[in-house]
Amino acid sequence: MRDENCIFCKIANGEIPSRTLYEDNDFRVILDLAPATKGHALILPKNHYKNLYEIEEETAAKVMPLAKKMAVEITQKLGGDGFNLMQNNNEIAGQTVFHFHMHLIPRYNNDNQNLVMKPQQATDEELDAVREAIVGNGK
Ligand code: 5GP
Ligand code: ZN
Repeated sequence: MRDENCIFCKIANGEIPSRTLYEDNDFRVILDLAPATKGHALILPKNHYKNLYEIEEETAAKVMPLAKKMAVEITQKLGGDGFNLMQNNNEIAGQTVFHFHMHLIPRYNNDNQNLVMKPQQATDEELDAVREAIVGNGK
């Protein structure tokens, strides 16, 4: 369940030192080396999964409770004003390290960070067609 060439496998399993905020049997939570904001951290599973498409459900199901726990703790300790969770899959979506990770990004009033998406226009017909493509007809 490890990839010998993966830096996050080495960090998650303690072979490369990191600024660890939390560790259990399944995960290590570390500070990001190039933080988007103060306290930006990453949830790393100890097993190697390339991304959301490949992570096993049992591990995936543990990520959100851990994200909540860390978000509350980080926000309290650092005096944050809000929080973004971010999780990138494949290059087009901004993934640069191909070992699943969830970004924990504390937000502060006037932090000068911009993680906001650009809303696009869609007609009712387009939205209906997208829904049909995903769930099929008659559901
Ligand atoms: P991605 O772009 O794949 O969603 O996020 C990768 C993140 O990992 C980036 O925010 C980057 O700063 C962080 N990162 C890359 N290499 C290292 C490392 O060796 N140690 C730590 N702590 N963070 C890293
Ligand atoms: Zn890995």
